[in-house]
Amino acid sequence: MACIFCRIVAGEIPAEVVARTPEVVAFLDVQPLADGHVLVVPRAHVPAVEDLEPDAADELFREVVRLARPVRDALAAEGTTIGVNNGEATGQTIPHVHVHIVPRWSGDGAGSVHSIFPRKTSRPLDEVGAAIRRAAGDRQGDLGLT
Ligand SMILES: [Zn+2]
Repeated sequence: MACIFCRIVAGEIPAEVVARTPEVVAFLDVQPLADGHVLVVPRAHVPAVEDLEPDAADELFREVVRLARPVRDALAAEGTTIGVNNGEATGQTIPHVHVHIVPRWSGDGAGSVHSIFPRKTSRPLDEVGAAIRRAAGDRQGDLGLT
């Protein structure tokens, strides 16, 4: 088992665990972007968000919601940036889904999620929207877009 997160989940590698559920483990990032930087991972090895089974996705985000306030309170933070690097091109270095919860304070020098993008767009919104709806295929009815 080479995946470092699978090994943390299995208890083979020590980690500063802050929460465990039957489906999810949350622990401190060993290279924190700020004090209190938590990673929330599904116990199952799943490379990308789109590979998560619905129940696993529910449990993962449920734990993110459950931890958001305690992380903020424990660090006296004014907010948290919550994000997922999804795919190698995004900077995801460990191919096991993980949600970052990073405490934030006004004036901490970090930007918003928007600040990571150079805003290079070239396609009109209606064209992009139609392409995504087509790709979502049979889910269009679920989205109320048919
Ligand atoms: Zn893994």
